[in-house]
Amino acid sequence: MSEIIPPLSKDLKRVLINEDAIAKRVSELAAEINEKYKDIEEPLILVGVLKGSFIFMADLVRHLTIPHVVDFIAISSYGRKGAERGEVRLLMDTRENLSGHHVLIVEDILDSGNTLNYLITAFKARGTKSVETAVFLDKPERHQIPVDIQFMGFEIPDVWVVGYGLDYKERHRTLPYIAEMIPEK
Ligand code: 5GP
Ligand code: MG
Repeated sequence: MSEIIPPLSKDLKRVLINEDAIAKRVSELAAEINEKYKDIEEPLILVGVLKGSFIFMADLVRHLTIPHVVDFIAISSYGRKGAERGEVRLLMDTRENLSGHHVLIVEDILDSGNTLNYLITAFKARGTKSVETAVFLDKPERHQIPVDIQFMGFEIPDVWVVGYGLDYKERHRTLPYIAEMIPEK
């Protein structure tokens, strides 16, 4: 049976990562996470960074066999100038008290590294047992600060991508694949 692929939106250049490749990689990452945390006594607290991580989180946790709790935070990067200085602001904190727990930050994409660097530092300061990161996409060419990533989905080139939780001005967030945008003129 041939697969029916809906036409790509006009502002998208190409599909970078298709649904099957995503599903396979997410289940591999979950297996790595299950293995790594198999002996922990307290449930692992997964903290998703809204909004971009919500689909990755949903797929990932449905493969987990270890005890775990799902939580989210919302942050905002300051405007362009602020973002260049690496400023990050917490808009909504976790519901869980992270102190004394193993924490896994679940993030859609690693770009400059500012967001994850801020979160890792902030969570460590709360007396967590450990803070690690699961990141669906990585743009190695864009890094400004070194960030230690334990669980990484795919490396991609320096292009703007959408789908699988990632948006462009709230567009394309719920596409089931990762696509490259055509840059605006
Ligand atoms: P960082 O703090 O590492 O510079 O930026 C990470 C954030 O930038 C991500 O969580 C995401 O919100 C945004 N971002 C970076 N690159 C892309 C991209 O290609 N597409 C989308 N939709 N968001 C991106
Ligand atoms: Mg994000």
